Amino acid sequence: LMHLTRKLIEIRSMLLSIDQSDALKLPSIVVIGSQSSGKSSVLEAIVGHEFLPKGNNMVTRRPIELTLVHTPAKGDGKSPEEYGEFPALGLGKITNFSQIQQTLTDLNLAVPTSEAVSNDPIDLRIYSPNVPDLTLIDLPGYVQISSMDQPETLKEKIAGLCERYIREPNIILAVCAADVDLANSPALRASRKVDPLGLRTIGVITKMDLVPPEQGATILAGNRYPLHLGYVGVVAKSAGKNSSSQSAGTVAKRSENDYFGSHRDYFGASSSLMVGTDTLRRRLMEVLESSMASSLHGITNAVQLELEEATYQFKVQYNDRRITAESYVAETVDMLKARFKEFTAKFRKPQVREKLKIMLDEKVMDVLEQLYWLDKRTPELGMLAANSKVKPQDVEPYWRHKLDAASSLLTKSGVGRDSTLLVADGLRALIDSIVSGDPFTYHPRAAERLVQFSHMILRDRIGVTSDQVENCIKPFKYEVDVDEREWAQGRGRAAELFENEIVMCESKLKEIRKKVGGGRRLNNLLGYVRNLEEKAKERTNKRLAGDDDAQEEPESYRYPPGQILDARHAMLYSDRLSILKLRLAALKSKRCKAGPENDVLCPEVFLNVVADKLAHTSTMFINIELLDHFFDQLPRGIDSRLIYDLDRKEIEEFARENPVVKRHLELQERKDKLEEVMKQLNSLSTLRTDTQPAPRRQ
Ligand code: GDP
Repeated sequence: LMHLTRKLIEIRSMLLSIDQSDALKLPSIVVIGSQSSGKSSVLEAIVGHEFLPKGNNMVTRRPIELTLVHTPAKGDGKSPEEYGEFPALGLGKITNFSQIQQTLTDLNLAVPTSEAVSNDPIDLRIYSPNVPDLTLIDLPGYVQISSMDQPETLKEKIAGLCERYIREPNIILAVCAADVDLANSPALRASRKVDPLGLRTIGVITKMDLVPPEQGATILAGNRYPLHLGYVGVVAKSAGKNSSSQSAGTVAKRSENDYFGSHRDYFGASSSLMVGTDTLRRRLMEVLESSMASSLHGITNAVQLELEEATYQFKVQYNDRRITAESYVAETVDMLKARFKEFTAKFRKPQVREKLKIMLDEKVMDVLEQLYWLDKRTPELGMLAANSKVKPQDVEPYWRHKLDAASSLLTKSGVGRDSTLLVADGLRALIDSIVSGDPFTYHPRAAERLVQFSHMILRDRIGVTSDQVENCIKPFKYEVDVDEREWAQGRGRAAELFENEIVMCESKLKEIRKKVGGGRRLNNLLGYVRNLEEKAKERTNKRLAGDDDAQEEPESYRYPPGQILDARHAMLYSDRLSILKLRLAALKSKRCKAGPENDVLCPEVFLNVVADKLAHTSTMFINIELLDHFFDQLPRGIDSRLIYDLDRKEIEEFARENPVVKRHLELQERKDKLEEVMKQLNSLSTLRTDTQPAPRRQ
């Protein structure tokens, strides 16, 4: 039967990891008692080591799930190592019991004082040839009086915690000190509430040495407060802080033997009273065994039911499809790379060139505005172009200088930096859009890492790239050769840009017209504003001529200031429109169509060709210096930073960040564990039939 308990203890802890519902619980022994009743001393006597937290006012703040595993002596007669393990902490074997004690102290002290006690149990296993297979749960001791630095609610909190643990099917080990009236024992009181007949309560009477033996014997006889499982008397005085842990058990044991040995009249074999730690140990084993055995049938049924349900759900919800955290991570990475690849199409050379050209067209328009549209003489340029008698070489040097200035304004406007930044911004936006989609919404940390990494690559490359681009467009700062074909294309594009600009200005004008209430009103408004401006000009002229009488005339506010502002905008747009239309006509003239020799007369065409060349050259070098690097490094970064960086635990965590995957994994695990438990339970029942005597042949 030994084997059975051991197996069931294993099964019990598996079941605990499946869920905390009472239906799937195998019994354990729960140790309760008031503070200083000797609870720790009893537990340490059972284990044979001092390992529980001690100290002034040191209450156990968390339940300790103590699993004792009996390790049988090896064949060579050497006694196997004794050690403890905290499975949840992954500290490995701890052979030094004062280290176990220290760890337990730390874990207890980690519970904030405001909480006082925590429901979260500490899992501790002790392997030793000197312990039986047992599971014991050490609970915080009942406090009688709340002291100053303990919150008022502590008493209730501890009572609540104990109440949860002393439910069926657990066995209650009620620790009471012999020198305290049993009537006052909170442990017995709590037990009586849930187990009035004492069917699953064992009484442990400590400090037997502190009362006269006849009084001790009376308590153990249990006539006053009968318990079906009886009382065991012990002397389990722990050997104090200073003694070494090894000797603690031995010293305690000796004093216990001495005590009961010297009172054989009361406690001898003939008394049929249960005394001594060894007896207690044996008693606990028997009780746990029989309790486990009687739970076996019920638990098997419960597990079977749960397993059927889990299997059904797994089939229905996931069609039996199994996943692992690793497979999810791999899928996510594949998807990320695929999405990335798909997006790279946006960064092929023609697409990049197109983007850069749009930016440069803007620059061309700015240059034209600055140098031509604001120049009162620009209409002359149209007239020169229309005059077929004017040869290009006859045109005033003024216009040649102007064109050179315009061209150098464009080529020296920081194209290298601007175009590099434009593409880098595009890449940044690309990454943002990738990580803002499913499933990265569930993985904010991974998304952040990816963003960080991509920014790092960009930061690394931006300087180099923009210098390189700037360097390569350098020749255009001195001279640009334009051939016939380039000219024709440039003219077409320039005309198109002007048409767009005209449409834009017209729509703005229309907006204003609508805003002020129609064309007629706008005309009146414009007339009024022009008049105002005339007068203002006159006044300035007079003042300049020394006429001090030029008085400031008060404005006769016929229109609200907002409308006057609108009118000023309207005037700007219509001035702009007339110059744009003039230039568009020039662009469509024979002269501009003729060819590059007319560059001075058709600056728009020339600048457009320059912009195109700049876009082309920039694209080439951005492609080599920035895009190639980026598209090469990022996928590697995804592998090295997102995956190989992660250990098993992090992979699990990552996968579980996605709630869909989490649910899938959890159900799958539940099913697997239940299957495993079921297998173990089934093997137990064959074990039991094996051990039964074979039916006799007739
Ligand atoms: P806990 O607070 O219930 O865990 O109680 P402890 O195990 O810490 O014991 C409280 C005090 O009682 C300690 O000073 C122990 O040495 C002492 N003590 C425990 N068991 C016995 C015993 O059987 N006999 C005597 N004389 N003292 C004991």
